[in-house]
Amino acid sequence: MESHPRQVVAASVREAVNAVRSLIQSGEDIPISEISIDALYHVIEEYVHHALRPSLRKAVNATGIILHTGLGRAPLARVAVEAAEAAAGACMLEIDPESGKRGSRFAHIEPLLCELTGAEAAMAVNNNAAAALLAINTLASGKEVIISRGQLIEIGGSFRIPDVIHRSGCRLVEVGTTNKTHIDDYRGAITDDTALILRVHPSNFRIVGFAEETPLEELVALGREIGIPVMDDLGSGALIDLSPWGLMGEPMVQDSVRAGCDVVTFSGDKLLGGPQAGILIGKQEVIEKCKTNPLARALRLDKLILAALEATLRLYRDPEEAARQIPVLRHITTGRAELEDRAKRLAEAIVSEGENVRAEVAEGVSQTGGGSLPGQDLPTFLVALRSKSLSADDLSKRFRTHDVPILGRISEGLFLLDVRTTDEDDLRYIISCVRGLD
Ligand SMILES: *Cc1c(COP(=O)(O)O)cnc(C)c1O
Repeated sequence: MESHPRQVVAASVREAVNAVRSLIQSGEDIPISEISIDALYHVIEEYVHHALRPSLRKAVNATGIILHTGLGRAPLARVAVEAAEAAAGACMLEIDPESGKRGSRFAHIEPLLCELTGAEAAMAVNNNAAAALLAINTLASGKEVIISRGQLIEIGGSFRIPDVIHRSGCRLVEVGTTNKTHIDDYRGAITDDTALILRVHPSNFRIVGFAEETPLEELVALGREIGIPVMDDLGSGALIDLSPWGLMGEPMVQDSVRAGCDVVTFSGDKLLGGPQAGILIGKQEVIEKCKTNPLARALRLDKLILAALEATLRLYRDPEEAARQIPVLRHITTGRAELEDRAKRLAEAIVSEGENVRAEVAEGVSQTGGGSLPGQDLPTFLVALRSKSLSADDLSKRFRTHDVPILGRISEGLFLLDVRTTDEDDLRYIISCVRGLD
């Protein structure tokens, strides 16, 4: 009562007493030691501890899923965290230091985004779903949006392109087929009411075989010919080419700008590896219209996010530095030898620490996750845990219910820790938790 809020202690006492009461009422034979004041005291302490620890807690991602939506997608680079901390108090969010007058919050990211992508103008909102909504609403409200049938996709969490188009106040005009759409399909659908040609990158699935998308360049040429803007929703937003690490087919932001799109949208917290945000880049005139749309205010970015986004983007000026400092890129680019070394060290430490667990190194695959690069596995090393007294589900639950939960995955009856998505601190913490397993 001296060190914790009275309300919390009182509620915990009631809860503990209720638990004991139900135990007694269940009629089971309960040893007196389990309902003693001492036993009760420990139960109460635990309830208090649970009630007082933060709900949104730090976790260890040992799932091998690099962009794990449940674990908050992209982990931030250290400099991004520091930038958010610096912006937490009073900060120069919307004041121009030269003139002392009111400035734009986009001034912190717009020049950087233009420099990195070659675009004329840029802004950012809460997430890419918001960016897509804002762009479509700005360019085509009350009019028709043409899109290929193969791109009418669902991203997850109820974000479906047809719904977004309707909610943007537009009529959807679908052309072509699921697997093939040609430029003449688009041309044939143009009416006096057409306001936008939309391309969406099918980021979370792949069609293989007899399939063909209309190249962006052809869409842009058609748009220019008839005076209609072309938008590209890229989803992941890769600023560097990931093919040297075996990840193919992710379109790069710079290519969409070079193709001449009027507006390109992508997420801040997928392959870009920054905070949750939706970035819009493109032609000056179009971005200007998006900025002044009243929806932009409703979708506005917070200063902490803006600071973290700016710091993340700054890293991209030196792609090698970006790959070292941005966790998503670091996790993608970690080499085989490093992963094997990490897994061996972890397995050995677990074997020497844990009395009741056995650990073996196994080869497996990690995934990019977050609806990026579907079906493209990254070879990795895993530590497979086995216990005489605990099933894989029990082990998984034990690790998951720590104050700092450790998330792994279960496969073929084994609890697996993938070292690709961990760092040295994580490994030390995992080892310290193994000590408590019995
Ligand atoms: C992920 C994705 C979105 C949604 O982005 P969020 O940042 O999750 O809101 C929209 N479009 C595409 C193509 C995507 O891949």
